[in-house]
Formats: sequence, structure tokens, C-alpha cells
Amino acid sequence: MDRLQKIIAASGLTSRRKAEEWILQGRVKVDGQVVTELGVKPRKGALIEVDGKAIAREDKVYYVMNKPKKVLCTLNDEHDRRTVVDLMTDVPQRVFPVGRLDYDTTGVLIMTNDGEFANEIIHPRYHIAKVYEVTINGILKTEEIKQLEQGVVLDDGIKTLPAKLWVTNKDFAHEQTMFELTIQEGRNRQIKRMLEVFGYEVRRLHRRSLGPITVRGLNPGEYRLMKPFEVKQLR
Ligand code: URA
Repeated sequence: MDRLQKIIAASGLTSRRKAEEWILQGRVKVDGQVVTELGVKPRKGALIEVDGKAIAREDKVYYVMNKPKKVLCTLNDEHDRRTVVDLMTDVPQRVFPVGRLDYDTTGVLIMTNDGEFANEIIHPRYHIAKVYEVTINGILKTEEIKQLEQGVVLDDGIKTLPAKLWVTNKDFAHEQTMFELTIQEGRNRQIKRMLEVFGYEVRRLHRRSLGPITVRGLNPGEYRLMKPFEVKQLR
């Protein structure tokens, strides 16, 4: 349960700091009672009023975006580069990305304002199939495929869970291999680090699906609301 000032701030009415001032000034009521203490955690569904007016509780929203290249998965960038949030111009809620895709990675990215949902999905214990289309700078060997499928030890000493690798093209002319790699985890830069174990560089990375969620019908940079059943399938 959230604290009162956080709920007021989440309604979009003001900042958390200002909300605290309003509470201390006696301008906030919870279920009809003035509350002047900070840190009160109202029950779920409580009526919260500021100056006698009920606040709008922000609905939880869930979007899937086809993340384009050259866009960051952060809320702000100190160098003013474009972020995925900048692309969602017509979404009034304050959404944020669930997990990260690298600057040049494209594909399925979930955006939400539901922090609990996001935490569940990015928790290391949470396993769901993520299918990546990968192009690397070299010809992948059979033995390497086997090892990538069985699990490799990353630079931080962690061994990856079993994965599935399906080569779609060995392109000898351009010295590159294209394949689909299905992993169950989502460690930081996992695919690139898995390939680094064998000295390969990733030239192209596209997340085709996250569980049942795909970007079918969405051009790069486009997004759509997820259906309630899709959200349920992920939990
Ligand atoms: N693995 C990576 O290395 N990068 C991504 O963006 C996603 C998975």
C-alpha cells in the first residue's frame, strides 16, 4: 500500500513534496477525515480528497511497443537523447519501460504505470520465453550452439539457463550468422554477453516476443494497449 502523499502525486495533481505540504496544511481528507500526518497508508479504494475534491486515481495501463533503434529505455537522459517515454506522446499516464532493451535493440517492450507488475516481470525468479532474432559477426560453430543452449558462464560468473538456438542463415559472404535465440531470463545485456563468451559481436538484435506478446502489426515506434487477457498471461 502506498503512502498518502505518493497517491496524491501519482494522480498527477502535484509533486510528492507539495502533497506533503497539503497534508500538513490540513487540506487532505481520507474517507471524510482530515489527515495531517505524513506517511498514512490509506486502505485500497479509500476516498481521498484535496480541498474537498476527490482525486483521480490513475488507472493501471499496459502497452506493448515495437521499440525502434536509437531510443533509450530510461526515463531521462542527461545527454537529451530520445527515450521510449518521449515516443508515447498521447498517453496521459506516467508510464515507464518494464526492463531494458539496449539503445540499438528493437522489438517487444512493455510500458506501464504499474510498478508491482513491472517488479514481478523483471525479478530474476520470473521465467518466461523471450525470443530474439540475432545477427552476429561470424559463423557460429556447432559446438558453440550446443554450449549456448546448455548454458554459458557470463563475465559475472553466472551461468545462463538452458536456451534454444535455431540458425536461420549462415551468410559466408558477409561472415555473419543469423539465428533465433530463446531465453527464459532477462539479465542485463544477456544476449550480447552470451555471444561475447565466444568473442562474437551482435550486429542486430530484435526481441520478437515476450511470452505470448509480439509486435505483430506494429511498425517501429508504434505501440498499442495490451488486452487484459494478455496482461494476465504474463503474471
Ligand atoms: N540482450 C541484450 O544483450 N540486449 C538487449 O537489448 C536485450 C537482450
